[in-house]
Amino acid sequence: MSENPTATRSRSGSTATVYGYPRQGPHRQLKKAVEAYWAGRSNADTLLAAARDLRLQRLTDMREAGLDEVPSNDFSLYDHVLDTAWMLGAIPRRHVDAVPDVRTPAGRLDRYFAMARGAAIVAPLEMTKWFDTNYHYLVPELGEDTVFVLDPSKPLAEFLEAKTAGVITRPVILGPLTFLQLAKAAPGRNAQFDPLTLLERIVPLYAELLGRLHQAGAQWVQIDEPILVIDQPAAVLAQVDHVYRTLAAIKDRPKLLLATYFDQLGDALPVLAATEIDGLAMDFTGPAAANLIHLTAIGGLPGKRLVAGIIDGRNIWRTDLTEAFNTLAALRGLADQVDVAASCSLLHVPIDLALERNLDPQIGTWLAFARQKLDEITLLAAGFDAARRTTVAELMASETRLVERAHSPIVFVDAVRRRAAAVTDADLHRTGRYPQRHIAQQSHLVLPALPTTTIGSFPQTSELRRARALLRSGQIDANTYDEAMRAEIRSVIAQQTDLGLDVLVHGEPERNDMVQYFAEQLTGFLATTDGWVQSYGTRYIRPPIIVGDVSRPAPMTVQWATYAQSLTAAPVKGMLTGPVTMLAWSFVRDDLPLADTARQVALALRDEVQDLQAAGITVIQVDEPALRETLPLRAAGRAEYLKWAVEAFRLTTSGADDETQIHTHMCYAEFDDILPTIAEMDADVISLEAARSDMAIVKNFAAAGYPNDIGPGVWDIHSPRVPATEEIAARLARIVKEFPPERLWVNPDCGLKTRGYREVQASLSNMVAATTTVRTQL
Ligand code: GLN
Ligand code: ZN
Repeated sequence: MSENPTATRSRSGSTATVYGYPRQGPHRQLKKAVEAYWAGRSNADTLLAAARDLRLQRLTDMREAGLDEVPSNDFSLYDHVLDTAWMLGAIPRRHVDAVPDVRTPAGRLDRYFAMARGAAIVAPLEMTKWFDTNYHYLVPELGEDTVFVLDPSKPLAEFLEAKTAGVITRPVILGPLTFLQLAKAAPGRNAQFDPLTLLERIVPLYAELLGRLHQAGAQWVQIDEPILVIDQPAAVLAQVDHVYRTLAAIKDRPKLLLATYFDQLGDALPVLAATEIDGLAMDFTGPAAANLIHLTAIGGLPGKRLVAGIIDGRNIWRTDLTEAFNTLAALRGLADQVDVAASCSLLHVPIDLALERNLDPQIGTWLAFARQKLDEITLLAAGFDAARRTTVAELMASETRLVERAHSPIVFVDAVRRRAAAVTDADLHRTGRYPQRHIAQQSHLVLPALPTTTIGSFPQTSELRRARALLRSGQIDANTYDEAMRAEIRSVIAQQTDLGLDVLVHGEPERNDMVQYFAEQLTGFLATTDGWVQSYGTRYIRPPIIVGDVSRPAPMTVQWATYAQSLTAAPVKGMLTGPVTMLAWSFVRDDLPLADTARQVALALRDEVQDLQAAGITVIQVDEPALRETLPLRAAGRAEYLKWAVEAFRLTTSGADDETQIHTHMCYAEFDDILPTIAEMDADVISLEAARSDMAIVKNFAAAGYPNDIGPGVWDIHSPRVPATEEIAARLARIVKEFPPERLWVNPDCGLKTRGYREVQASLSNMVAATTTVRTQL
């Protein structure tokens, strides 16, 4: 490690840094260590030692890659928002009661994990998406009566641990405004409670923490306030001003770097620029590039340090070095010091491309995972002039790669481009309008009032997962595997027939994951072998990469749907993942607008819809659970996004005949802002989550004059609890008065893949019984 471990400047005057690095280790050691602890296969000392080894390894990796300034406290055993709640003492009563004794490390771990995953009968904190990423954080629960007490041990210990290893790190702390805005009112308390009202109570704890870190030797502290990239009312901006003036006024404190990412700062920029914070980290990638214009307009950040996030921290493409150098050149002079970083924590990308076991070597030259991004950052920080010879060579290599990529037959497929360009408005419209289609479908499907159905998946049993593992390792052949899937389909169809459901599903036993299953079959998508990214806690996912133009070489679902249909006279619903969700849960291209990729995926799926229909599947569901969550953070970008998202859905489904019934599904209950969009999608039926919010959405759909059919979930599948017949019947009796019953369906909230067969059988049986009762009352 370098002799001068403190924040140093590279030759050109730029520091190379990141805001955070993947936590899991190259072989997901963290997952294994934590899960071994949970399973009782190890103890607190073993887990904490493993975590320490991982942190030191990351530190070495980042230093050896040439970073001048390295973060600490970006590591977490589970989640950094949970860590912040813990640090501030915001621990719900039920978790304190569940694990009262925290005098030992094991006690502390157990209480921490009780908050994360629940314990015995105690529910965990709720989990939700971290901004518009696929990372999930735990939602702090706050109330008027929350007592905040600072526990600085984690940030302090991680700082000191690195210091002992010879590195003065920059501790990363989630800022007070972001923490409060991400929190929610504690359950059972006043739901209108606004956590931001607690700001005055936590700012002193932050002040104390800064003092403690200063004493320990920290020179810079990074305070993350990504919430400032969301449109904020003037009242909140006034709070921003107040908080950062207060913290900057502390006498003995480290320098403050306020970090923002995922979008541009907008109105928050002049507010922050006017405070005495020492540095500001801003995103200059994608839509956040507008930050450059705003920064220039306000005359830059005189007297401050600017950390420029010019490498995309949440996608996996190698940076266009020429463009990045240009951005840097434009930024120089706008602050006292301009440093180089990734646009956000590297938590959101896989750790190391070198681990890939199956990568086309050429495609490999186009990609950069976290470790490769460190090299890009150091190269850019070293600067064009400083290391002229290497830089020129790197620049030329970067240009060559871009040209190769643009002309690669994997990337650019003329036939796909031409087909996408030829899409007309007529391709976005069904033949008949909903009322006509409703009649055509009804005479063809002959469904009772309040038809019952499910969302698609049935329980993914361990036998199913085992069969897939055996197929992958070559221990069984494709025929044996297919027969195992067919056996499951037979069983699922028989169960639904016995239960008396009206529209059946094949149960999706063959799908490992609703995106990956399709990605594996579409040209243009690439799978990784080791590209794990943290989804939440110890759950990691391997998002596919969209490398090139997308097309469908062969039908993807037809054999399973038609097999299921051959077993029953009742309609079987075909099941597809929609274009927006395919993009949202993949790494997307940086060389083609999202709207264009969505259109290509839509055309591929449109062919699948046609093939299903031709094979006699006349109810087809196109799932779009990601539509709402991908909504741009700032209101300004939303109209455009919604426009192409709706178009992609309509392109997918509009080739269906009037008799073919198109369903869609989304899994959340907050729709008010996108209700008009949902109507524009023009699905014949939409199923939605509703049970947890006590069917509140039904009234909203009615009030908005929603024109087509809805299937509000009557059973909360997120919990193992079996809803009683009377409970479901009461719900149904209520909603048939709120929404025209001839346009209502009965279904659970979401797919059943995470549930067990016992609860599924019992709950569906109650659902059908309740429906039968309510039908007689219509
Ligand atoms: N059809 C999918 C299923 O039932 C939908 C999953 C989802 O909405 N996330 O599993
Ligand atoms: Zn769902």
